Amino acid sequence: MIEELRRTVCRLHTELVRYGLVVWTAGNVSGRVPGEDLFVIKPSGVSYDDLTPESIVVCDLDGHLVEGDLAPSSDTAAHAYVYRHMPEVNGVVHTHSTYASAWAARGEAIPCVLTAMADEFGGEIPVGPFALIGNDDIGKGIVETLTGHRSRAVLMQNHGVFTIGESPKAAVKAAVMCEDVARTVHISRQLGEPLPIASGDVDSLYDRYQNVYGQRSHL
Ligand SMILES: [Zn+2]
Repeated sequence: MIEELRRTVCRLHTELVRYGLVVWTAGNVSGRVPGEDLFVIKPSGVSYDDLTPESIVVCDLDGHLVEGDLAPSSDTAAHAYVYRHMPEVNGVVHTHSTYASAWAARGEAIPCVLTAMADEFGGEIPVGPFALIGNDDIGKGIVETLTGHRSRAVLMQNHGVFTIGESPKAAVKAAVMCEDVARTVHISRQLGEPLPIASGDVDSLYDRYQNVYGQRSHL
């Protein structure tokens, strides 16, 4: 089970590269080991081209290395905090993707002005607090901002994006969609004020997309 998850999480990192969400070694994907108090995550400072399933490390929910030869990602404590406090979450992604991070740099939530945002996020993409790396502050900010919120993405102020999902793949999808809508709404802003979508329409779009759209086995 852990070997399969390592392969999946290793492969999902190539999606971050493919969609232009990361540069150098920034960014990471993790996945909870089903039924265990463990998760797998990218090792720290390893280039995307050099990632292999064997290099993906296993940590406990306190963020301590359990299995693997390399040090875990420097963001491990934040991922661990999310897994400890959000039992429904099985995947976490972090990136500094350009457009979303530009919104984060201003500390501005991305308003829900696209049907694709209503579909995927059910409203705006919120901003979490400024937090330094090194303790639980980032994890706390993610959990406090996303608890009770439909959005599976949070813009951590002056930093970047964290996304959560029912699977690692769902969290990667949220990261890809977050950057996509951040870019479109940014471009729209250049020539005017984007039009809001009525909250009832946001609800309808979200409900349809989450419950009716696509093949039920797609995640
Ligand atoms: Zn970061």
